[in-house]
Amino acid sequence: MSRSAHPAGPRHADVLPEGHYSAPPADLNTLDPKVWSQTVTRDGDGVATVGGIDVKTLAEQYGTPAYVLDEADFRARARAWRTAFGHDADVFYAGKAFLSRAIVRWLHEEGLNLDVCSGGELATALSAGMPADRIAFHGNNKSTEEITRAIENGVGRIVLDSFQEIVRVAHIARELGKRQRVQIRITVGVEAHTHEFIATAHEDQKFGIPLAGGQAAEAVRRALQLDSLEVIGIHSHIGSQIFDMSGFEVAAHRVVGLLKDIRDEHGVELPEIDLGGGLGIAYTSDDDPREPHEIAKALTEIVSRECDAAKLRTPRISVEPGRAIVGPTAFTLYEVGTIKPLDGLRTYVSVDGGMSDNIRTALYDAEYSVALVSRTSDAEPVLARVVGKHCESGDIVVKDAFLPADLAPGDLIAVPATGAYCRSMASNYNHVLRPPVVAVADGESRVIVRRETEEDLLRLDVG
Ligand SMILES: *Cc1c(COP(=O)(O)O)cnc(C)c1O
Repeated sequence: MSRSAHPAGPRHADVLPEGHYSAPPADLNTLDPKVWSQTVTRDGDGVATVGGIDVKTLAEQYGTPAYVLDEADFRARARAWRTAFGHDADVFYAGKAFLSRAIVRWLHEEGLNLDVCSGGELATALSAGMPADRIAFHGNNKSTEEITRAIENGVGRIVLDSFQEIVRVAHIARELGKRQRVQIRITVGVEAHTHEFIATAHEDQKFGIPLAGGQAAEAVRRALQLDSLEVIGIHSHIGSQIFDMSGFEVAAHRVVGLLKDIRDEHGVELPEIDLGGGLGIAYTSDDDPREPHEIAKALTEIVSRECDAAKLRTPRISVEPGRAIVGPTAFTLYEVGTIKPLDGLRTYVSVDGGMSDNIRTALYDAEYSVALVSRTSDAEPVLARVVGKHCESGDIVVKDAFLPADLAPGDLIAVPATGAYCRSMASNYNHVLRPPVVAVADGESRVIVRRETEEDLLRLDVG
């Protein structure tokens, strides 16, 4: 690891360019437990450790970039959700956030259920031994082959997303001589993201069947007539990275309104209501997510209050957190390659990964934090932008963050809260190889998803 001197970037005392950053933190060496997984700390030499292993050892053993996943933290979060919702509710982990066979086994052991939304996710779940009746199958365009495989394997529920799919799933179930448990996904006209929600006009999207105009009621009417379907409930998912519970309040009110209409029209009280996922996590120290027990309490109260008002028996609730379980449990470990201070602007720090291992910044303008983890530093903070090695100027991992002025090539930096939607959305752009996922627990580490090789790439390219 060579260390070369470089001219310093702009100081925080200078006029800073526009961006989403607050003042530099008092101490760049502190690893805020809000954004880092539970077992992350620094050892006596100032090197960050996770699960009792220091990041230099991990980098030497597995190379960089690498996603480092804190197994104890994952299990603790999964368990916290399970415990918070108790036995009268189900927690379905949203597999699309990050799915691997180790994850499936941990979820199974911790008593969670699993959402999948493709044949590939279903295959992963089944191959790792998740009981099919604890799997829910989602998606707005499941193929006939996927539906067939799901029903043949006995998945616990299929979430119906369109009028065509009601008929399609009913037909396939009948052909297979089965009665399939289904939920109907509706859009309630609420969309929530982060601190805001909008309570009208968000039916203009591809998922679900609109409540508006009686379409959802019509979907239920049709599904109830089909013998090969057992309609167990209504499903609503309102958004992502949500901190404010008021969107769920409006959604629950509207879903319960539909349950009441169904009871009045058909004389049936559907036994389940699924309120989806979307609960937010802390990507930076400015974010204040709620704890699972607060979320469980709020959602349970909202649903039972609405049901009491509608004189309905309170249905069994299910929720589908993805990000809130896996997001905070991993960080991406990178090695610094080049450093370019741009006078009056900021310092560009290039790492050995980028938009191929974290597309969220480019895709959603997402915010992340970053820290020097291979050592501590008392140098002053400089405004930095962490960028990747791809041929794209939008290849940004962390838009604005402060790093110490003495940062040098060869240093290891890490971006926390990359457990969700990073490996699962990773690509081979520029034929860059997707990083491994390394799980650490109790002083031991192991690869749960290995690094891609050039051989893997060339195997697909059959000439
Ligand atoms: C994406 C998704 C989730 C999980 O969302 P998170 O933001 O990861 O909690 C849950 N349910 C459905 C239907 C989804 O599409």
